[in-house]
Amino acid sequence: LLEIRGLHKRFGAVEVLKGVDLALHKGEVVSIIGSSGSGKTTLLRCVNLLEEFQSGNIVLDSETIGYSTKNGRRHRLSDRELSRQRSMTGMVFQSFNLFPHLTAAGNVMLGLRKVRRMGKAEARALAERWLGRVGLAARADHYPSQLSGGQQQRVAIARALAMDPKLVLLDEITSALDPELVQEVLNTVKAIADEGATLLIVTHEMRFARDVSDRVVFMDQGQVVEDAPPAEIFGNPRSARLAEFLRNTR
Ligand code: ATP
Repeated sequence: LLEIRGLHKRFGAVEVLKGVDLALHKGEVVSIIGSSGSGKTTLLRCVNLLEEFQSGNIVLDSETIGYSTKNGRRHRLSDRELSRQRSMTGMVFQSFNLFPHLTAAGNVMLGLRKVRRMGKAEARALAERWLGRVGLAARADHYPSQLSGGQQQRVAIARALAMDPKLVLLDEITSALDPELVQEVLNTVKAIADEGATLLIVTHEMRFARDVSDRVVFMDQGQVVEDAPPAEIFGNPRSARLAEFLRNTR
C-alpha cells in the first residue's frame, strides 16, 4: 500500500532524512521508534504532504505522492491534486488540533462535509458512529474544553478514521497526555488496528509498539537502521545503536 524509496529531506543545510526506505502492506501496523531528532515526525509529514522533500519517492496506493515526473524532471502537483492526495491519509497529532468552537461531532463532521461533500444528516450519523467506536457516544455535543485530553485525542482519532483514509498516521499521539489517560487512547488504537486499519505510528511507548505492531522500524540520524517484527527488535537487536537506544528507554 505504501512504498517509500530513497527519501531525502533537508531543512536548509541540515539533512534530516538520509535515504529512507519503508514499505507497508494494507492492514499492517508499523511503529517507528528512535531517539528525538532522528526524523520520525518529518517522515510522517512527508507522507502526508505537509513537507516537501528533495529526492526519493513515496507511492501510496499506486500513486506517486506530491510530484509528477516529466522528461526526467520533478514537478510539484497542483494544490488541488495535493489536497486530494492528502485526503488519502489521515493524521493524528500530538496536540489534538481540534477546533475549539466546534463540538466533538462538529469536529468529526467538518471534513466529511467540506472534503467528502456529505450531507449534514449523513455526516452527523457517521460522526456519531465513529464517536461510538472510540467510546464517546455520550460526548458528541461536548466542546473540546469540556473533554479530557484523552477524550479529545479520541475525537481526533474518530475524525481521522471517519474520512476512511487508506493509511492512518499517528504522530506521538500520547505524548501530551497525563499518564493516566495514555492507556485509554492506546486501547482505542489497538481496537482500530484489530479491525484492519493500516497504521504508521510514531511512538515513544515501547510496550505499546511491541504489543500493537506487526513490524517495528528503528530510525537513527535520518536512516532506518532496523526493520523487523517486534520480538526481534526488542528481544534481539542487531545493531549497537538500537541496543543502546533500548537500554536508555527502559
Ligand atoms: P521527536 O521524537 O523529538 O519528535 P523526531 O524523530 O520526530 O523527534 P523530527 O521532528 O522529524 O524528529 O526532526 C528531525 C530533525 O529535523 C531535528 O533535528 C529537527 O530539529 C529538524 N527539524 C524538524 N522540523 C524542522 C523545520 N521546520 N525546520 C528546521 N529543522 C527542522
